Amino acid sequence: MAITANQSRQQPHFMVFPIMLPGHMIPLIDVARMLARCDGVIVTVLTTPVNAKRFRPALDRERRCGFKIREHELRFPCVEAGLPEGCENADLIPKGQNLAANFMAAVGMLRPQVEEAVKQSKPPPSCIVSDMLLTWTAEVAAGLNIPRLVFNGSCCFSDVCEARISDSEILGEVGSESEQFTVPEVPHNIQVCKSQVKLCTTDPNLLDDDPRKQWSVKIRQTSKSAYGVIVNSFDELEPDYVKEYRKMHHGRVWCVGPVSLCNQNYQDQSLRGYNNNYSDQQECLKWLDLQAPGSVVYVSLGSMAALSPRQMAELAMGLESNKRPFLWVLGKRGKNIDAFEDWNVSSGFEQRNRGRGLLVRGWAPQVLILSHTSIGGFLTHCGWNSTLEAISAKVPMVTLPLIAEQFLNEKLVVEVLGIGVSLGLKMSIDWDGEDKDDVVMVKNEEINEAIDKIMDERGIEIRRKVRELGEMAKKAVQKGGSSQLNLISLVQNVSSFAQP
Ligand code: UDP
Repeated sequence: MAITANQSRQQPHFMVFPIMLPGHMIPLIDVARMLARCDGVIVTVLTTPVNAKRFRPALDRERRCGFKIREHELRFPCVEAGLPEGCENADLIPKGQNLAANFMAAVGMLRPQVEEAVKQSKPPPSCIVSDMLLTWTAEVAAGLNIPRLVFNGSCCFSDVCEARISDSEILGEVGSESEQFTVPEVPHNIQVCKSQVKLCTTDPNLLDDDPRKQWSVKIRQTSKSAYGVIVNSFDELEPDYVKEYRKMHHGRVWCVGPVSLCNQNYQDQSLRGYNNNYSDQQECLKWLDLQAPGSVVYVSLGSMAALSPRQMAELAMGLESNKRPFLWVLGKRGKNIDAFEDWNVSSGFEQRNRGRGLLVRGWAPQVLILSHTSIGGFLTHCGWNSTLEAISAKVPMVTLPLIAEQFLNEKLVVEVLGIGVSLGLKMSIDWDGEDKDDVVMVKNEEINEAIDKIMDERGIEIRRKVRELGEMAKKAVQKGGSSQLNLISLVQNVSSFAQP
């Protein structure tokens, strides 16, 4: 059903441009669909052919309901950027080949096509909504005199902590990578170390012309100068930080999440993300149907990062010794997974645990899995989508952050919200995840113990809190809930400057 946003005379037209990273694109496509469901709104999604194909079935469903959401395809310059043909999403970059910079260069080369799409668009866009990482869209929007809204795929807590660490230049004062320090001027006492946050903050020790410094400064500058920010969170989840974040962005912050909850029925949930393989999905769900309520540990470390082969084997042993049923999504294939698969065969791990454990190779229907009644716990890397999806499904977490702001998300989950148990990792892995030493960072006994802590009688309070937050999440996106009202207010705001 369409949401009424007290229409102005002009039809607001949102031009939505997600960056092609699964953890950023999936939620922004949800936002695009939520906007299109608002009365009178037109949405155009700018994306490339391979990505458009992934999302078309979900967008087709919206169109069949009469919502005005369309795609504008951009040609992705794979060959020019030295990428394999069809490598249009970061999850398609072959692992171990150091092609991340080529991928970002190809994304930058889209600029003239994006400018043209905005100029030629009919009706003209009222605003551009682009991912926070697409910093050059700020210049495109300014050049064409169109407001830009930023999509922040993380939470207010992590963004506020990142800003406080960067602005205070505290990283310049800490001695070693592993020295703990307190995040300055935030409402809670949050202790982190440099090795956990250096990839998501500005390090004052870097020279001004260091590309890493320039990149992080640019993201923060272009987010600050944007008209406003759309966040996949909800006001009640992190009220202190939403307030701080609003102060940082001229009051124009719209928390409209959890956006995964816009997928209300089975079809929407099974189509979320990619045009999934139906038989794989069915295998997962049938297996879950056989398990007792609340008994299964779900393990997934997101769409990009990979553990070292020895750490994967350690995780396998932890799951085995825990004796609970487990569903483990192995993640993106590469050298590490191949080496783990060799260990898997030689050790007989999968064979021995057949029936009690299911390994998923490829893409898993995460939202469907998390909302299955048999799931009792989630061992997660604390990617923000996974975190919020777990909260929405009322599932407590064991946290194993690997990279970027995931360590801060872990702090929110474990220390602020009290809905998870940390595995205590102190160090980011490499983005590519393939050229790191084959080390064990967390022992199988620690994994076993942490799972017990969220799933046995010691986890009563954690489970109570996550159920409470899950209820709040559901209410936030319902009629009259905070996120639904924020969505309406966003549309009204944009309507006020919509072009005739
Ligand atoms: N996801 C999924 N199936 C998979 C792996 C990931 O549906 O097999 C989805 C997951 O539900 C989430 C997103 O992909 O919406 C991953 O985002 P997140 O922020 O959790 O982690 P990232 O992949 O960005 O590290």
